[in-house]
Amino acid sequence: CGIIGYVGPSSNPAEILMSGLSTLEYRGYDSAGIAVANSSLDVEKREGELEMLEQSVATSQFSGNVGIGHTRWSTHGPPSDRNAHPHTDTDESVAVVHNGIIENYQELRDELHAEGVIFSSDTDSEVVPHLVAKHLKEGDDPETAFQRAVDRLEGSYALACVVEGEDAIFAAREDSPLVLGIGEEGYYLASDVPAFLEYTRDVVYLDDGEFVTLREDGYTVSKDGHPVEKEIKTVNWSA
Ligand code: GLU
Repeated sequence: CGIIGYVGPSSNPAEILMSGLSTLEYRGYDSAGIAVANSSLDVEKREGELEMLEQSVATSQFSGNVGIGHTRWSTHGPPSDRNAHPHTDTDESVAVVHNGIIENYQELRDELHAEGVIFSSDTDSEVVPHLVAKHLKEGDDPETAFQRAVDRLEGSYALACVVEGEDAIFAAREDSPLVLGIGEEGYYLASDVPAFLEYTRDVVYLDDGEFVTLREDGYTVSKDGHPVEKEIKTVNWSA
């Protein structure tokens, strides 16, 4: 339903993610979660109001300067802590948030299951972190691993992914909105501009089939393996 991401110098990305999620609340949701990456991944997710998540976030240590967050409106699997996003691979080295529906998830799930993957949710979304982890194990760099995973998907998606040990967010979209925010300090990613409007008005709207990699020192957009030049637009309305 709602996605927020941040990479930059802030030592408290959890706060930026939580404030982004609260501006996305109006879209409706049944659960929420965040993941912050550094040398390891820290994930908190809860069914119910954002308040539930805030309580667990307040008592956890989130260190790192890259993170993603999600409010879920369930389509596959009932609302529950385990079905909330972000979803991770078995080793908890990859975390993914997803808006939309992966139409071929059952086929991908069966394939991964046959390779020994144990699933910990009922969602269509969980296939994505497992696919990314599989390609990482095969030796791909994280950006390639993410792109190869997304190439397997059919359906609609806005996806954001973080990998332990990587100061980057990997994202992609198809039939589901995703927009990049260019801040003075750091970069933002969201399903909807208001999620980061308090930090920046300079935005790049992503189009279907595009991939974006955000790092603290810049971002790149590509489609079908080729770089894409994107126009930066300034939003002049307020939320
Ligand atoms: N299909 C996914 C799920 O049920 C994502 C739903 C959403 O867009 O929030 O978990």
